[in-house]
Amino acid sequence: MVERSIRYIPLFKIYDGSEVSIPLISYGSGGKRVLIVSPLHGNEITSIYLLWRLMEYIESGDLLKGSLDILMGVNYYGLLLNRRVEPLSGMDLNRSFPGGDEYGLSGHIARVVYELAKKGYDFVIDLHGAGYSIPHIILDDFDLSVVSYVKDVAEYSGIPYVWDYYDMEKYYRYNLDRSLPSTLLNVGVPSFTYELPTQGFSDEAFVNSFNGLVNVLSFLEVLEDEKHDVEGYPKGLYGLFRRRVYTEHGGFIVANKEPGEYFVKYEDLVIIRNLLGEVMERVRIPRDGYVISIRKMGVARPYEGVASVGIRR
Ligand SMILES: [Zn+2]
Repeated sequence: MVERSIRYIPLFKIYDGSEVSIPLISYGSGGKRVLIVSPLHGNEITSIYLLWRLMEYIESGDLLKGSLDILMGVNYYGLLLNRRVEPLSGMDLNRSFPGGDEYGLSGHIARVVYELAKKGYDFVIDLHGAGYSIPHIILDDFDLSVVSYVKDVAEYSGIPYVWDYYDMEKYYRYNLDRSLPSTLLNVGVPSFTYELPTQGFSDEAFVNSFNGLVNVLSFLEVLEDEKHDVEGYPKGLYGLFRRRVYTEHGGFIVANKEPGEYFVKYEDLVIIRNLLGEVMERVRIPRDGYVISIRKMGVARPYEGVASVGIRR
């Protein structure tokens, strides 16, 4: 039996005098130290369910070797309101690092997380959700020695990993350098983004997500466990570069591909239809690759992202 301990990390105070604080759940005290952060995006809640399962797995077994801290519920109001951004500020917490009070509430919350995360952890895992998606790991492509270590960790997980971004100019324009893992890598703390499916996923995808996370914790010597199987993802997908795919027209989305599926250049990825069901646009790119996530249905705004793909740079 492994026991958890919990302390609450204060995030901010509000006008009735109450303080919003979130649990930091801790296992173990010695050995390698890993921090899991979840969720910076309030509508990406698969991580909560995955962490419950992980906590049960750790507590009911005898596999703990190092130390694990889990910071849960970072986007407190975003969880309640099912919103990606931090609702009081309207800002994306995962584009707000390293943060600071002078950047408003999102900057303050980011600072609290950042200060915690760079305090002596051997690895920081940032859990996210990617919609109708396969589980995947996103690696920030910096020319830093810590990055090759992070890639080794990702490889051992068995989960598909992709480099962010295929176009580094866009990486900076999208403020991806202000994500938690990116900011941590640049101060020498190994970290990556672990993306989970959040819509329409199978039990198998959830089990793969769990197994991949356990493998990461084994590699990092937090758990002493056998390697768990992660199955069903094409080998060609591993190590590609991530790119978003956009529509030009607003309209009704019909996905023509599934997450994890291969496509050739100029193949239809998504069809955009008008109210009468007529085809307005076939969303394609001039490259071969694999679909990572795709919007199965719903309405797209003009120039909105409808898929995320892995391609060669
Ligand atoms: Zn996210």
